[in-house]
Amino acid sequence: MPIEVLASAGRAEANAKAGRSGWAYAEDVPVTRPSTAVPLIDPFARRVRDLRLSVTDRCNFRCTYCMPGEGMEWLPRSELLTYEELARIARVCVERWGFDGIRITGGEPTVRAHLPRLFELLRPLGVDLAMTTNGVRLPELAHDLAAAGLQRVNVSLDTLHPETFRALTRRDELDRVLAGIDAALEAGLKPVKMNVVVIRGINDHEVVDIAAFGRDRDVGIRFIEFMPLDAQGDWTMDQVVPSHEILDRIHAVFPLEADRDRHDGAHVEPAARVRYQDGHGDVGVIASVTEPFCESCDRVRITAEGKFRTCLFALEETDLRATIRDGGTDDDVAAAIEAAVGTKWAGHRIGQVTFVRPSRSMSQIGG
Ligand code: SAM
Ligand code: SF4
Repeated sequence: MPIEVLASAGRAEANAKAGRSGWAYAEDVPVTRPSTAVPLIDPFARRVRDLRLSVTDRCNFRCTYCMPGEGMEWLPRSELLTYEELARIARVCVERWGFDGIRITGGEPTVRAHLPRLFELLRPLGVDLAMTTNGVRLPELAHDLAAAGLQRVNVSLDTLHPETFRALTRRDELDRVLAGIDAALEAGLKPVKMNVVVIRGINDHEVVDIAAFGRDRDVGIRFIEFMPLDAQGDWTMDQVVPSHEILDRIHAVFPLEADRDRHDGAHVEPAARVRYQDGHGDVGVIASVTEPFCESCDRVRITAEGKFRTCLFALEETDLRATIRDGGTDDDVAAAIEAAVGTKWAGHRIGQVTFVRPSRSMSQIGG
């Protein structure tokens, strides 16, 4: 069945639900759209407006599709950007170019100490604040994070079976991750979504069960195609389960509507969303490998040590930490970002002979 994907529940919707209109942030710190903000446009006429901040390269899991079981070398603490440095870069992006979404990621962001403090620093910017996490520390952190300004969360969970979970993450924490999802819902984070990397022969047989789990719990499932960003370099194309296959399997049990579109107002979501015909929510697919959405990419990333990247698969980086720690002004930071965005490429070339893997793996970039 040729399933098209409906409009994504994205940032505009999240902002509307949170009671924010435009740049007026209703909490204690009023923020107005800076009159000087101008769109930041890359060489392929795409507007850049979404910032991914990695706060650490460390993790308490060792997912097979991301890291080896042993032997990862971590950055020394002094090399990480401080929360103040991260917030400064974010402020420059919001003030100068009207960035309107920031996602905190890693490594595992919740292993960095005092994470709520970062959200306290970002909240006055008045933009959508999201986080991607493996969820295992959410039972103790979700409430404090929500209170500090986190609005929504994606919890990564690829299986509902303890044995598969142990095999995939090399940890025995399924129950705590499930408790983490509950804690996020209880803390009022909305929406709570679940990221599911699908790998053929490992968890693809669970796609329908996971879809059912999402329908029951009011958790939006986002199935992600396995990308060649594992630290070990073991990725092969035959492990990738194409998104259309995932949707077909779900459709056979829970019929899906026919249309698809990843636009949500001005925003473009990586997850193309398809609604269930019975009105029971939606399911999303992130088809980075088989149907790349590079032509509508609006994001840039900063690694935990302050390297600015214009693409997950970028081969070049710009050292913003050096600019900041050498005493650079906001203008210097902005100039460095503008110059880098001026080199943003049209898109990655996974599957083509010209594709070159970046030297960093997913956890070192900030997925
Ligand atoms: N540790 C956090 C987590 O797992 O959610 C945040 C960082 S993790 C690198 C961000 C996202 O990247 C997760 O949803 C994870 O499943 C996904 N990911 C990691 N390696 C991947 C790969 N090789 N292909 C596709 N997605 C991957
Ligand atoms: Fe850690 Fe996330 Fe990578 Fe898993 S995917 S090893 S939880 S950084």
